[in-house]
Amino acid sequence: STRRLPEPRVAPSVAATTNSHLQITDVTKNFGSQAVLKGVNLSVAKGGTTAIVGPSGSGKTTLLRLIAGFEHPDTGTISLNGTTVAGDGAWLPAHKRQIGYVAQDGALFPHLNVGQNIAFGLNPARLEGGRRAVNARVAELLEMVSLDPSMAKRRPHQLSGGQQQRVALARALAREPELMLLDEPFSALDAGLRVATRRAVAKVLAEAGVTTILVTHDQAEALSFADQVAVMRGGKLAQIGNPFVVYTRPADRATAEFLGDAV
Ligand code: ADP
Repeated sequence: STRRLPEPRVAPSVAATTNSHLQITDVTKNFGSQAVLKGVNLSVAKGGTTAIVGPSGSGKTTLLRLIAGFEHPDTGTISLNGTTVAGDGAWLPAHKRQIGYVAQDGALFPHLNVGQNIAFGLNPARLEGGRRAVNARVAELLEMVSLDPSMAKRRPHQLSGGQQQRVALARALAREPELMLLDEPFSALDAGLRVATRRAVAKVLAEAGVTTILVTHDQAEALSFADQVAVMRGGKLAQIGNPFVVYTRPADRATAEFLGDAV
């Protein structure tokens, strides 16, 4: 029969995203007259890890902020689990997206101790359990990022840079996110600590089955962390692929030069 079924309004995007956690379609973003994102398309599988690499100013942080719901796209759509959360008239606010976000500076609240910083991220349902339950959950989260539970009483300024970044991660994990966005989370660490922290974080996220997007300047990090690498340049994704293919077969000369420079 050639009879066509009526076109359901949401079917195409749902069909395209059956297996994808995050789907970004033709997203653009301008700040004033500056076009910062110029048509970005990206699909991230459930439980997958994507590294976004690219020169400073290419739009990586802006893309993460759009995914988190801190900014609206000018055009295009963002979908989570097949539901449009931004664009096409849709808007789901940040706090309803089940996303954890660790910003580049990973800033902790300086006037709160470590335990209070982490408790700040807890879902309201966890807070209803009372102080003992909150303290137990905070200790559990500290353990997840390989910090001693006794750290809960310390102030952020009493911690090393690496410890502060782990606390920022614990605070983001406290939200029990389905999707974790990490913006250069290990950049403040020296080389040795960076590798150890990266391993610990990768393990925590993998065990929790959290889909992860990591912005990084560090090729080794992208290679060891990600099953998909996206190279951003001038507000576009110049190449997306598995790490081996991206690094051994860059799509064009500029990508090859950028990746070469990053070594
Ligand atoms: P990256 O993370 O790759 O370094 P960003 O997304 O931080 O890139 O920035 C891309 C461009 O967008 C930069 O030129 C930056 O100055 C500009 N930009 C980012 N956020 C804003 C904002 N809130 N207002 C104006 N310009 C912005």
